Amino acid sequence: MALELSILYRGSLSSCNYGCEYCPFAKRTNTAAELATDKAELDRFFNWVEARDPTDKIGILFTPWGEALIHRYYQSAIARLSDLPQVTKVAIQTNLACELDWVKDCNLDTLALWTTFHPTEVSIERFLQQCQQLDLAKVKYSVGIVGLKEHQQSARLLRQELAPDVYLWVNAYKRQPDYYHPEDLDLFTQIDPLFPINNQVYDTFGKPCRTGHQVITVDGAGTMRRCHFIPDSIGNIYDPNFAASLLARNCQNQVCRCHIGYVHLPELNLDRVYGDGILERIPHPESNSHLVSG
Ligand code: SF4
Ligand code: SF4
Repeated sequence: MALELSILYRGSLSSCNYGCEYCPFAKRTNTAAELATDKAELDRFFNWVEARDPTDKIGILFTPWGEALIHRYYQSAIARLSDLPQVTKVAIQTNLACELDWVKDCNLDTLALWTTFHPTEVSIERFLQQCQQLDLAKVKYSVGIVGLKEHQQSARLLRQELAPDVYLWVNAYKRQPDYYHPEDLDLFTQIDPLFPINNQVYDTFGKPCRTGHQVITVDGAGTMRRCHFIPDSIGNIYDPNFAASLLARNCQNQVCRCHIGYVHLPELNLDRVYGDGILERIPHPESNSHLVSG
């Protein structure tokens, strides 16, 4: 039977060219040897995907612990993955600082980028130039920003300057309780009509979640976990029997806070909102839920 699986891949890379204050990770640099290890892991992952049956349907979202797209080996792996018949989507979270010449080598039917603007690290003009290049190259992408109050002006500007059909998401800042005033909520909801869904912490203990069954995370050693928020291993993709571990399971965490997790909760029906853009966070155009209101 053909395998249908979404994989969130996170190799051992843990470095970034930016140094955002709010960053939960990636405040370090990797040595050449560490990058070589990361590349070898990625090559192995590529070979595994390439060896799948062409009738399989594999979606991949790279969720690096830092910035991966500035490295040529990620650009090349993504371009090659995008052309495999069994790959239905290859997407990556990125700050979009990289050169974009490599996108011409990609299959644009399957490539997508999850981009984030970081106002303290790059000018908005430079970021928008990169977005224009993606528009010209006809690459699908979403743009996001962390919903800090000091980012409101940048968020407004982005919404004004981005092409109207480019979805702009705002990640709610949840580290500080009662952080938002009603006017902040209004503004961010006007910019991102899906912001209220993100600005919640979901009680998930004992509830069904597609992760572990239809969606898994994989690290550089091939270790499978159901999601990035539950550390228990459920198997290894390099074990020929790995598919036997893909079982429906209920969530064992009390809460789920992040888009890349709760989006897979059946009770939220967000698969209907995002359709086949669920990995790169692009709502389905017909869902209308992301259109700017007012
Ligand atoms: S760009 Fe992303 S990974 Fe890099 S420092 Fe900022 S938040 Fe962290
Ligand atoms: S609800 Fe969130 S924490 Fe629980 S299994 Fe799903 S993705 Fe993981």
